[in-house]
Amino acid sequence: MLSIKPSYPNACLLHLKLGRIVSIFGVERVLKANAMEKITRRVFNEKLSQGVLAAGLFASAPIACAMGNETSKKRSLGVALVGLGSYSTYQLAPALEQTRYCHLAGIVTGTKEKESVWASKYNVPADNIYNYQNFDKIAENKDIDIIYVVLPNSMHAEFSIRAAKAGKHVICEKPMAVSVKECDAIIEACDKADVKLGVGYRLHSEPYTQEVKRFVKEKTFGKVHYITAEAAYHSRGNPGQWRLNKALSGGGALMNMGVYSIQSAIYGTGENPLNVTAQEFSTRPAYFKDTDETITAQFQFPGGAVGNIFTSHNASANRLYASCDRGWFALEPANNYGPLSGTTSQGTITFQHESQQKLQMDDFARHILEGTVNRAPGEMGKRDMIIVEAIYRSIAEGNRSIPLDLGTLGLV
Ligand code: NAD
Repeated sequence: MLSIKPSYPNACLLHLKLGRIVSIFGVERVLKANAMEKITRRVFNEKLSQGVLAAGLFASAPIACAMGNETSKKRSLGVALVGLGSYSTYQLAPALEQTRYCHLAGIVTGTKEKESVWASKYNVPADNIYNYQNFDKIAENKDIDIIYVVLPNSMHAEFSIRAAKAGKHVICEKPMAVSVKECDAIIEACDKADVKLGVGYRLHSEPYTQEVKRFVKEKTFGKVHYITAEAAYHSRGNPGQWRLNKALSGGGALMNMGVYSIQSAIYGTGENPLNVTAQEFSTRPAYFKDTDETITAQFQFPGGAVGNIFTSHNASANRLYASCDRGWFALEPANNYGPLSGTTSQGTITFQHESQQKLQMDDFARHILEGTVNRAPGEMGKRDMIIVEAIYRSIAEGNRSIPLDLGTLGLV
């Protein structure tokens, strides 16, 4: 571990481990964005890749690789986005203009009109544009290393498996699939093809979330006794949208926002739950004909903590709060695109905002290029789907407690 003491007034210690900021302490536990101006993650990464601090940390260019193939010699991996809806358009494609270890190299769309729009906006060559039918030909395309599946949930498994069979690394959006069985099939296909698999859980690359994980790991506030996590928004749009159609979404609020509450409860305690008890509430059945509107669920954790989650398509909530032996920590907002905001019983936590999607995709590309940790592996997506299925089962079986046998599955 390398410690650098910068000269700004709050005298923060930046602990660098393998070129990444892993913990930040200030005298007042406040890290101001302006104080970080010159010491951003990007600057460190750039310095590291230039070799300024690289000796002893990295094995120099070409980057020390987990992969022995052609991919390993590249400095920036080509990403193909599959499904050019709102998340690809407004978050992922703009983020890929900021990423350092990957870039937009191709698109896969079922809408012919989008081809020329994206091709001219992002300079995508005609050879790197695919549709859902000719998608498998992507196997022959050396520009594309990673396929990012950004389709309705029920299509994640099919396209992730086809991507793996094409020999490409896979990022699959959340929720990973619409059943545990499908998650298993994706994991198996990626293992068989010897490609990396990540779930689009952007918050694991986000500094407030990483700080929460550090509080838990280092027991900064002692043991967690109670955690509450909320993720909800008002759905008032087109009742025919795929998110309200169970065949395409796999479920309602729980599949969409609920996975964030489940995630928060787990990284906010550092443990997988032992059991879950759940309840469903419906106040607008005419609109939510096919999918769940509001769900609450309670977890018991091995260390004794109790957790409560809330998710809804009919309320606005975005929060994580943990009560511990020696104080508390909270994020609000906790799971939107940021900037997030954090408070603790010892003061405020503040980090400079960067695109979460940029951080997430760069982390995944570095996992391929350098063998760094996979922050959101397939097992994490599968674990969450086991919990989702248990929650639906608890509701279907009269709110009974459903035991979970998760061990350490998906804990990173
Ligand atoms: P969207 O409705 O805006 O886009 C869906 C895309 O899929 C469109 O391009 C549409 O043309 C295409 N599509 C193909 N077949 C379709 C079909 N049968 N019905 C409907 N659309 C079809 O959705 P989105 O918001 O971009 O979400 C896509 C995925 O990304 C979902 O799995 C969602 O959960 C996930 N997502 C993740 C985040 C995050 O923060 N990680 C945020 C938003 C969405």
